[in-house]
Amino acid sequence: MLTKLVDPDQLEDTVLSESHYHNRGHGLSTDEEFVSINKYQIPQKGLSEATTYSILHDNLSLDGNPTLNLASFVNTFSTQQVRELIAENISKNLADADEYPTLVDLAQRDVSILGKLWNADSDEKPTGTATTGSSEAIMLGGLALKKRWQAKRKAEGKDAYRPNIIMGSNAQVALEKFARYFDVEARLIPVSPASDHVLDVSKIEEQVDENTIGIFVILGSTYTGTFENVLKVSDLLDDIQKRKGFDVPIHVDGASGAFVAPFVFPDLKWDFRVKRVHSINTSGHKFGLTTAGLGWIIWRDASYLPQELIFKLRYLGSVEESYNLNFSRPGFQVIHQYYNFIHLGFKGYKSIHSKSLANARILSNSLEKSQYFEVVSNIHRKKGVLTYDKPQIDDNIKIQGKDANEFNEGLPVVAFRLSREFRKQYPNIPQAFISTLLRKQGWIIPNYPLPTSESHTEILRVVVRIELTADLLNRLIKDIIQAVEVLIKAESLYGAASHATAGSAEQRNFLYQLLSSIASNGDDYNEDAKKEHLKHHHSTFKGTC
Ligand SMILES: *Cc1c(COP(=O)(O)O)cnc(C)c1O
Repeated sequence: MLTKLVDPDQLEDTVLSESHYHNRGHGLSTDEEFVSINKYQIPQKGLSEATTYSILHDNLSLDGNPTLNLASFVNTFSTQQVRELIAENISKNLADADEYPTLVDLAQRDVSILGKLWNADSDEKPTGTATTGSSEAIMLGGLALKKRWQAKRKAEGKDAYRPNIIMGSNAQVALEKFARYFDVEARLIPVSPASDHVLDVSKIEEQVDENTIGIFVILGSTYTGTFENVLKVSDLLDDIQKRKGFDVPIHVDGASGAFVAPFVFPDLKWDFRVKRVHSINTSGHKFGLTTAGLGWIIWRDASYLPQELIFKLRYLGSVEESYNLNFSRPGFQVIHQYYNFIHLGFKGYKSIHSKSLANARILSNSLEKSQYFEVVSNIHRKKGVLTYDKPQIDDNIKIQGKDANEFNEGLPVVAFRLSREFRKQYPNIPQAFISTLLRKQGWIIPNYPLPTSESHTEILRVVVRIELTADLLNRLIKDIIQAVEVLIKAESLYGAASHATAGSAEQRNFLYQLLSSIASNGDDYNEDAKKEHLKHHHSTFKGTC
């Protein structure tokens, strides 16, 4: 009988130990043997550099192609010149201020450039730091909110034991991580179609109390790319303060959007122009266009950063202040960031991000025009229009070449799902299978459920980055449509075969589950989607009986 679970590593070991490789003892006859024996332990005697390089090079080339990975916000583009600069500076440690004063100076220039891009007040002194990514930056931002709240509570002679922080349930994991790691209650406001799948401003007030240390507002939801409305949240909090006395600060999680909005949507007020915004984080390695390993956090003024978070280190006769979770870390990303600022300039960033947004609109419109899909994200719709509406599709196409400011603001992200008509006509086709078929062509396009309150809705998501050129975009659209047509064809074969029994609900459900299981690599696919599917089928079943 076949065993259910075969451990491929163990299988390989067994086959090897029976083979002549093993019987030849410890003589390292081939590199393959060497590596398979020493996969998980350090070898006594190492390999030559050339062999080591070639083994690792060959192995790593099996990884996906970063350009076709449309699942990630993280930049994968760099030029020969910048890679040279990186190579020259790869061994510099950002924590070593004594040794690398120029590097430290560049980090300060980056912070100052970002502070100005985010419209810091001229009478305030923006203060910030480089981090390994937005996650570390969010920990620092959250901690500053917590410490300030604690200090205020103590000064008022009140307890400071039960801090809470508010965010939408669409929050990226880093925001919830902050709450859990630093003992702050996370108050997650459920998203809904009515809130456009982001923070529901109408539900904030019921969550605010004297223990609220702040609110995380996300500029660019990871699910749909939609910007949360910082100004509207701020106005509401002003009103709450007037009526109830709670003074709730805002931290903007601009991991993606804080590098898009200043260039493409300069009139949108989400940054330090909004007084309630204490701090902003962003990822240099997303739309800041550096390689992975760089984030930023900036407070609107040095006074918003509690002194107890700052460590003072002596260096070159002066004192270097540091506020980070990490100490040693590579410094080349900071150089890459500065390189981008002075090489691309404002116009360069604006042109790159505008183009990505334009490409995202073309993709959105093509998907809707095909009638197979409806698009959940909104950047291809005229400003103020937030829902899918079939008669609008041709209007959207007519205006698609216009300035990004004519449309809803957001990230160059296309979140889409099978259209209602399609789902009705082909209820046995799981959306996840489209992702599986596209993988065959090299594309990585994830299919996943929206946050808990809407987890019965699954979306496919494409992040449009600088490398998705017009040619690639063309191929992508073709491949997506083709994937759907392959599935329609397969479904029609099944339909013909089961015609005699008219395809009972059980059979149809079996087909859906079979396809879903293959699509999810044998893992149990989204439980909520399964329930929803069963529910749907129950009603059809009753209807046809
Ligand atoms: C990517 C992302 C993060 C985490 O950023 P890293 O730079 O990967 O640590 C946090 N919030 C949002 C909204 C993001 O998109």
